[in-house]
Amino acid sequence: MNKEELKNLINDNLAYRSPLGDRHFDLLEKLMNITLEENEKFNLTAIKNENDFRELMIYDSLVPMKYFDFDNKNVLDVGSGAGFPGLPLAISTSGNYTLIDSTNKKIGHICRVIDELKLDNASAVCARAEDYAKDNREKYDYVIARAVSQLSVLVELCLPLVKVGGSFIAMKGANGEEELKEATRAIEKLGGKVQTIKIDQLPLSKEKRILIEIIKVKATNSKYPRAYSEIKSKPL
Ligand code: SAM
Repeated sequence: MNKEELKNLINDNLAYRSPLGDRHFDLLEKLMNITLEENEKFNLTAIKNENDFRELMIYDSLVPMKYFDFDNKNVLDVGSGAGFPGLPLAISTSGNYTLIDSTNKKIGHICRVIDELKLDNASAVCARAEDYAKDNREKYDYVIARAVSQLSVLVELCLPLVKVGGSFIAMKGANGEEELKEATRAIEKLGGKVQTIKIDQLPLSKEKRILIEIIKVKATNSKYPRAYSEIKSKPL
């Protein structure tokens, strides 16, 4: 996907209600250039060429924008890695984004991008989601996560951080519906309810994408999240 295709596909498919302008696309290109450059030193992502990066990292990160209105919302990106989907969303919407990851070098990279791109609606914290929940419980309108872990594990990391009435958005690939079946009991135990399932695809590779929105209908019991070893060995 070249720069022009990215622009047209985002504005035709994802941001059709309020198209992005040149300023946004310049920032998205800068994000790509910095990430690919740092990738050579720090091995931040497996995607190493520009055409794939535009589709698999930028376009993919912006698919939620088609279905959810993040403007003026507090959004937490859990397991953000090199900053995805949080950084493309912070460039493209006026939500307030916090990006967390447990790896120091990845948070260092995100902070560098935030600085260089002068993004005043994004910040980054090095933390494990289950620890971060201690002081930030039920604080976010939206929690979002892409490619972090199986849904049955992910819901215990993410739902405690969502405020009642807010939503957790799990960005999944072709296995999303299978994973959802396995996570049904955990979702209920954590105070969540499946609200919408959006099925989409990437425009060139045609890879399937499934966005699962889980709305928080009641407060999560304070015994969750448990320690990570327990979450992983005994998903709810
Ligand atoms: N979301 C990014 C993306 O889609 O490119 C990164 C995906 S990467 C495969 C998964 C990331 O989740 C890693 O950077 C890892 O450090 C982070 N991670 C895994 N478990 C975590 C936890 N419990 N709390 C915070 N970060 C976590």
